[in-house]
Amino acid sequence: MNKVSTNILKKAITKWGNHSQLLMVLEEMSELQKEILKNINRQKDNVDAIIDEVADVEIMLEQLKYIYQIDEAVKQRIPVKLEKVKARLED
Ligand SMILES: [Mg+2]
Repeated sequence: MNKVSTNILKKAITKWGNHSQLLMVLEEMSELQKEILKNINRQKDNVDAIIDEVADVEIMLEQLKYIYQIDEAVKQRIPVKLEKVKARLED
């Protein structure tokens, strides 16, 4: 996230509060789940909706990381998780 985007997200957290924004994380993840299910179960042509919901989820995950101050920890954990995926692929 660039500095302008980060500032917008900080303002959102200040305005609406941690509790509300954490609930929004769940709400946006639920919306993404719904669009993926529509795509798979009903063969719906909804890639634009999936794009919208992925963007919403990414924005909310940025706020979640800010609220819990876990951005660096997540960045460090990703290569570890990817190594586990790689190991499973090589099984
Ligand atoms: Mg949404």
